[in-house]
Amino acid sequence: MQRLNQNSLQQDVIPLFKPLIERDELDAARMALELGWLGMGSLVASFEEQLKSFIGGDGRHVAAVSTGHAALHLGLLLAGVGPGDEVVTASFNNAADFQAILAAGAEPVLCDIDDRSLCIDLDQAERVLSPRVKAIIVMDYDCMLCDHARVAQFATAHGLRVVHDAAHSFGSRYQGKTIGSFSDLTVFSFDPIKTITCIDGGAIVMRSEEELRRVHAMRLLGMTQPMEALYANSRASTYDIEAIGFRYHMANLHAAVGLAQLAKFDTISESRRRACRYYNQHLGKISEIRVPLTDFEDITPFLYYIRVPSRRRDALRGDLQDHGIETGVHWQPAHWLTRFKNCRRGDLTTTDAVGTEIMSLPLHSNMSVETLDRVIDKVTRFFAGSGG
Ligand SMILES: *Cc1c(COP(=O)(O)O)cnc(C)c1O
Repeated sequence: MQRLNQNSLQQDVIPLFKPLIERDELDAARMALELGWLGMGSLVASFEEQLKSFIGGDGRHVAAVSTGHAALHLGLLLAGVGPGDEVVTASFNNAADFQAILAAGAEPVLCDIDDRSLCIDLDQAERVLSPRVKAIIVMDYDCMLCDHARVAQFATAHGLRVVHDAAHSFGSRYQGKTIGSFSDLTVFSFDPIKTITCIDGGAIVMRSEEELRRVHAMRLLGMTQPMEALYANSRASTYDIEAIGFRYHMANLHAAVGLAQLAKFDTISESRRRACRYYNQHLGKISEIRVPLTDFEDITPFLYYIRVPSRRRDALRGDLQDHGIETGVHWQPAHWLTRFKNCRRGDLTTTDAVGTEIMSLPLHSNMSVETLDRVIDKVTRFFAGSGG
């Protein structure tokens, strides 16, 4: 049997992302494969139950799906978004959000972000509203949270549904409440690089049983059938189809990996928080760098970012690359991309600046102090050697 050559990854490269895959995940995957029911089944039901108790939130319903993108698409459909509608979101967002809006038949309307949180600027969002806007997507960025109390007020005041993209904030708390427990519709991603992974996976959290019923059908080609049979690893004998559907369900194998990850959430969360605090403590001293303005209390960080002067960013990234340290850019704003450059939009001054200043540094669960020190040392030397 051919083995993956571990050394094909250059030994001392520090990757940007490094999923925490241990014995637990391997055992869980083997168990799921040996179970023999490879599709959606009992392990998906368990994963949903665990997610629900993790999130809390009175009477909220949780459905697991294939990806975060699928969850966003279904969330927009639940929000009643369709052809001819518009959805307001920050231009500084993930490609999946813009594509989910297009998949729903709607058009994105791009607005600016807040300079401190890098999350949507609701004053700017207000300026781009139109009668066609049905919903707003708000996204918690990296290790920062939106002002969700204001988001809720904004939505009520303007009669909008909210899709809360919480792909980066799984396990974080806002004003003491776990993310997912309070928003209109909340969407998570468990893709390979996310805080916890199912290899690929997503989830949607909603308020009503009616919405849950629609998601159950939409994720399985529109087939309405009692979930009891599937959740017991067998097939329902009959089904009906009432509306459009997709192949967006989660498979047992992926749920098994997700369950193993959830079981070690505290370790994942605590170690990432510690790493981010360490970065802030050291990189915050460098005058050219703007670090995330948070103490990470109540935050489970997904990514760690810094903002550096635009004219130095690519040189710094190149220098780190030369020293075996991977970095990333999350993200290029949507209005810089061909499909979205002509979308209706408001003033994007902050987004344009942040798009040229932002970069992500390596962040892993259980990251060692030696690894963190290597990154910090190289960044520090870059700015010390340059005279600004
Ligand atoms: C990863 C991500 C998504 C998409 O999730 P997938 O599971 O990769 O489809 C959506 N929004 C944000 C903010 C993300 O980071």
